[in-house]
Amino acid sequence: MGFKEDADFARFVSMGAVGTAAVARNLRDQHGHAPIELERYAMANKVWQTKVKRLRLPDLACVRCGRRVESRAKSKLGIILSHSDTPGREWHAGGMRPDDWYAFLKADLSVFPAHAGSPTYFTTGALTASVGGAKRSAPKAASEGSEVTLTWPAWVPGRSGWFRGVDDEGRIVCEWEDGRTTRYWQWRNWPEPRYTYLDPGDSILGEESIVAGVVAAASELGCPGELWDLASDLGAPDAVDRYAAIKAVGATNRVDLAPRLARTTEHPEEDWRVRVEAYGSLARLQPEAWTDQLQELAADPEGAAEQHMEAVFVLSEIPTEEAATALATVASNRDLAVEVRSASAWGLGQGAALPSPPAAHHRRRRSLLSRFTRSLRSRTSPTTSPPRSSVGWRNRMNDGLRSLHSSCSDIGRWLHCSMQPTRTPKHGSGHFARWATSRPRSCGFSPGIG
Ligand SMILES: [Zn+2]
Repeated sequence: MGFKEDADFARFVSMGAVGTAAVARNLRDQHGHAPIELERYAMANKVWQTKVKRLRLPDLACVRCGRRVESRAKSKLGIILSHSDTPGREWHAGGMRPDDWYAFLKADLSVFPAHAGSPTYFTTGALTASVGGAKRSAPKAASEGSEVTLTWPAWVPGRSGWFRGVDDEGRIVCEWEDGRTTRYWQWRNWPEPRYTYLDPGDSILGEESIVAGVVAAASELGCPGELWDLASDLGAPDAVDRYAAIKAVGATNRVDLAPRLARTTEHPEEDWRVRVEAYGSLARLQPEAWTDQLQELAADPEGAAEQHMEAVFVLSEIPTEEAATALATVASNRDLAVEVRSASAWGLGQGAALPSPPAAHHRRRRSLLSRFTRSLRSRTSPTTSPPRSSVGWRNRMNDGLRSLHSSCSDIGRWLHCSMQPTRTPKHGSGHFARWATSRPRSCGFSPGIG
C-alpha cells in the first residue's frame, strides 16, 4: 500500500468514526436513546497486521429500546450504500432488522475539529421498499468483491435557506439566504412515491440537509424506553442478537445476568467471538473473578492469533484497574508475539482507563507502562523481539504510540523517544529519567463514545 492509499484509507476510517460519534450524540441528545458501540475499533483492526474476522455488526445499538443504527457519513451527502450480490455482503446484511435505522450525514474532515451535520434516518424496511428506484454504479474491481454503490434519488441543496413547501405544480419551493427562490421541479422525474423531509419554515443547511428523496423518512425518532429483553436475546438463535445482548448486559451493569454469560463462555458450540464478548462483559461486571480469564485468552498458547488480538482489544475497552494490569502483563510477556504485546501497550492508552483520581491513575499507568518498556529493552528471545528494522512494525507501533500520546501525553512522549530505533537504551533511559521526574499532567481521556 503506497502513501497516498494510506492517507486515503486513514481519511475513510476517520470519516466512519466521526460519523458514528455524531450519530450517537444525536440519538442521545435529541432523541433520548442510550447508544453503545457494537462494532469494536474498526480502526484498530485495520492498523494491526493480525486481522480479526469479526461478525458483521451494526455500528450502534440503544441499550434501552434495542434499536440498531448504521451510520453513513460522507463528504458529499446522499442516500448511498455499498452493496455486493455476495451473500452476507448485501447493503442490508449485518444484523439490520426492518425497523433498524440507517443514518445519513455529511462529515467534513478538512476542519479541526471535524464537523458533522445532523443525520437523516431511514429504516431498513423503507430503503428496501424503494430499492427499485436506486441507481446501481458500475462494479468496482473484481478484487473488491464486485462491490457497487446504490444511490437512492435525493436532493441535497448546495446552499442554505428555508424550505417553504411544495407548490401547486408539484415543485419544491426553497428560499435562500440571499432572498432568491428556487422551485425544484426535477424531483418529479424520480420514481413514486416521493417524500420531502422538512416542514414548511424549517431551515436548510447547504450540503447538509436532505430536502427530498424516494425513501420514507423514519418517524418516531424518540426512544420508546426499556423494550429490549436482554435475557431472552442471550438465548436467541442468531449470533448477532446474542452478541449485541451480551455487550448490552456489560454496558448496563446487569449483574443478575452474569450467570447466563458464564454459561455462554462454556458453551462448546458457541462462536468464539461471542464467547470472548461474554468474557468481556463478565470482566466489566465482576472484574476480580473474570479479568484473569480474558488475560489467559490473550496469552493462550493453543489459541489463534486473532483470538489473542481480540482478547486484548476487549480488555482495552474495560475501564478497570484489573484490565489495565492484565494488559500490562500481556505487554511484558516475552513468550508472546510482539504484535499482541504492542497491541496491549496501545490498549493501555486506548480505553483501559482506570477509575481512580487523575494523579493516582497517572502513577499507576506510569508503572504499568514502565514494566512494558523495561521488558522490551531487556528482550532476550529472538522470536519475540520487535524487528526494529521493520518499517511495518515501526509504523504500527508509532500508531499505537500516537494514540497513547493523545490520551496521556507524558507517557506517550517518553515511549515514543525510548523506542525510536536510532536511540540507544541508555539514551532512552535519560528520557525516562526526565519524564519520570516531571510533574504528571492530567490524562484527559475518557473511554467510549461521546
Ligand atoms: Zn432507544
